[in-house]
Amino acid sequence: MKLSNIITHLIFIVTTVLGSRFPFRRKTGGIALIGDELKQTPFPEWLTAFTGMTQWPGLDPPYIPLDFIDMSKIPDYKPYHQGECDVNPREACSFDCDQCIAHDDVRSCPKLSQTFDDGPSPATLRLLDYLHHKATFFTLGINSVNFPDVYHKIQEKGHLIGSHTWSHAYLPSLSNEGIIAQIQWSVWAMNATGHHTPKWFRPPYGGIDNRVRAITRQFGLQAVLWDHDTFDWSLVSNNPLKTEQEIYNDVAVWKLTENRGIILEHDASRKTVDIAINVLDMLGSDQLAVSGCVNGNDYIRVFN
Ligand SMILES: [Zn+2]
Repeated sequence: MKLSNIITHLIFIVTTVLGSRFPFRRKTGGIALIGDELKQTPFPEWLTAFTGMTQWPGLDPPYIPLDFIDMSKIPDYKPYHQGECDVNPREACSFDCDQCIAHDDVRSCPKLSQTFDDGPSPATLRLLDYLHHKATFFTLGINSVNFPDVYHKIQEKGHLIGSHTWSHAYLPSLSNEGIIAQIQWSVWAMNATGHHTPKWFRPPYGGIDNRVRAITRQFGLQAVLWDHDTFDWSLVSNNPLKTEQEIYNDVAVWKLTENRGIILEHDASRKTVDIAINVLDMLGSDQLAVSGCVNGNDYIRVFN
């Protein structure tokens, strides 16, 4: 096991243990921000017809049954919390527990490329000013409907947008219905805000196993993981796991050695955005969006 994998493994355990004592820690980096309600993405009529609701849900979105989801295709693995890695057999193919990658997961890239999770946020705008290549943003549904102007700016600049769930849930801990709710509302947020249906999906905390995959695949989503974790989010927590300088040292090593792969970063706070800009300065713009890493499409569908 590579050292970076071991560190990744440890951090998930650490965040789980501390998460129970410091509830905000588990949301660190993935915090759902409160936007201006007046500027929210309007709740579409088609979604009211479909759900009976008239406004976007809070952090705990309701499960809405969908015709196209075949529950019998979902394997019967048990829900587990972060770090509870002895609950299911290895065949469950957990990324965060065992670094297991499924045949259709994307985990690397021919060019060393940054990816940005947990936005859109007001801080995203600053990052957009510095990006001169097509990059990838994995957005939270709740943030997308609260910051539609930022979402549209990401689109206008030609970047790729993927789903990062509705409200940053650790999916393996949820029931099948709970996982579906996190995915369906994130897809609807992107439909309503960006007029497109996502193809790429990044599980919060790397929390994905074959039960989660059996659901995301039915939405046509493909999971995107990472080879390189900056732990940038921890710098805005009470317990930083790296110094800022150590992050830059890591990036320098990744560039000098393999010079390929997907880097995990975050655009939900000014601090992590400033780090992302410095990393961009180190790597330059010869980077790929995730779709370019694997010669895939950007979206399942784009609506006019
Ligand atoms: Zn996240």
